[in-house]
Amino acid sequence: MSRVIGIDLGTTNSCVAVVDNGQPVVIPNTGGYKTTPSMFALADDGKRLVGHLAKRQAITNASNTVYASKRLIGRRFESAEVRRASELCPYAITEGPNGDPRMLLGEKTFTCAEIAAIILREMKRVAQEYLGEAIREAVITVPAHFNDAQRQSTKDAGKIAGLEVLRIINEPTAAALAYGFGRKNAEETVLVYDLGGGTFDVSILEMGEGVLEVLATAGDTFLGGEDFDRLLVNHLIEQFEASEGIDLRAEPMALQRLKDAAEKAKCDLSGATQTEVNLPFIATGGDGPRHLSVIVTREILERLAADIVDRTMTTVGLCLSDAGLSPDQIDQVILVGGQSRMPLVQERVAEFFGKRPHKGVNPDEVVAIGAAIQAEALLDEDQNMLLLDVTPLSLGIGTYGGHSAKLIERNTTLPVRRAHVFTTTRDNQTAVKIRVLQGESDIAEENDLLGEFILSGIREARKGEPEVEVSFDIDTNGIVSVSARDLSTGREQSITVNATGTLSDDEIQRIIDENDLYEIQVKD
Ligand code: AMP
Repeated sequence: MSRVIGIDLGTTNSCVAVVDNGQPVVIPNTGGYKTTPSMFALADDGKRLVGHLAKRQAITNASNTVYASKRLIGRRFESAEVRRASELCPYAITEGPNGDPRMLLGEKTFTCAEIAAIILREMKRVAQEYLGEAIREAVITVPAHFNDAQRQSTKDAGKIAGLEVLRIINEPTAAALAYGFGRKNAEETVLVYDLGGGTFDVSILEMGEGVLEVLATAGDTFLGGEDFDRLLVNHLIEQFEASEGIDLRAEPMALQRLKDAAEKAKCDLSGATQTEVNLPFIATGGDGPRHLSVIVTREILERLAADIVDRTMTTVGLCLSDAGLSPDQIDQVILVGGQSRMPLVQERVAEFFGKRPHKGVNPDEVVAIGAAIQAEALLDEDQNMLLLDVTPLSLGIGTYGGHSAKLIERNTTLPVRRAHVFTTTRDNQTAVKIRVLQGESDIAEENDLLGEFILSGIREARKGEPEVEVSFDIDTNGIVSVSARDLSTGREQSITVNATGTLSDDEIQRIIDENDLYEIQVKD
């Protein structure tokens, strides 16, 4: 029986783990690193580079090096998030034929699922090399707050990478699984605060004899370390503009250097109270080269980032109230994601709960370890481990007058199936259009449109008479499918909701068939 790996497909870094002789282990890449940058580049000579190789050449090849593409996955090109991701971004983001964002590298555009697939392939390769055997199956983690489109795209990426995705699990749930490993009999209520490179999640889980039950989850799929970096990049640009009168915003190479330097300064400031950013030859003025040299203190960074950290704490409050708990009912707070190393984050969390967070897990590795533990549990039926997760977003359909009728509330345990009966709004109406929405608003437009389908052949009758039963299923991966049935004719229609922006089966096959995807340079 071949092994199943657990992959944490992160915004900034990815990590792969496996359970070996009953123990979960993180697999190092050829360079000995336990995490691999989620970066991809097209070099001048046409070579495709991934991971550390892509990162190393990012400054000299900034416009052909993609980082943080997970921020774009499953989104529409026109969305506010894609617009924000394009700001101060050295590579070009263009609109694809499905209205999805694509990365333009050289002459070729790449879908987000393709880039994610390239990174997944690399993680698969790392595991194969270490284990000396072929790997075909994986459990992949996603932010808990990912919607249907983002989950579908991640699953598509697995397929493109030649992996059967046995399960998609939520990152904070994976972290709790790793925390709970070996504590089988402990009964605890834990809160996972997961602030990664691009996303923020908070989940509250109850652990007890072989059962891990998520009580509530909340989050923001566009809030993470990247935002801290961007604030610091902006600060450096403003300082430089004030002293030198030169705007660095339109210069890809300068932007990439600033981004690297800002991230490094941010990480340094988790240990030191002051650091210096030095970027020689960052620009050329009328009288020759100009150098950037700026002192950044922890106080400045904390002032810049205070709003973001406050936002995360508001989300923590929301999650607690959804779970019906108060802060003192949380036994353990687990910090996950590299950005949770920031002292300000740790202070705020400690103030809120009146106790220091748990220190025993490595925030960079714990999610992949949890994924590997789940992979093992799926293989080994004797393991009595019951994992009950929830849907992060309410599911509904568009109704008359632009409203959204909620059919499944957020934080409902998965899998779930709900059926509702709907009727027509006009006499002799023979077709209904079902618009499937995900989100919390009563106004249809403010929610994500997952997809729409038409149920035709309804018998002619007065408005309000025909009865159409619509059933919604959300599986354990958080992926939605919908079917509808005319109760008088029995006529049925079933769709897997193919969110706008995701790839069709044909497109996935086309990408798989493109041989060049298999020619990635994989040496580290
Ligand atoms: P992850 O998605 O968990 O790999 O988190 C990556 C994010 O954590 C990136 O934005 C990193 O810059 C950030 N990060 C890593 N180490 C630190 C640190 N020591 N202090 C602050 N942020 C960090």
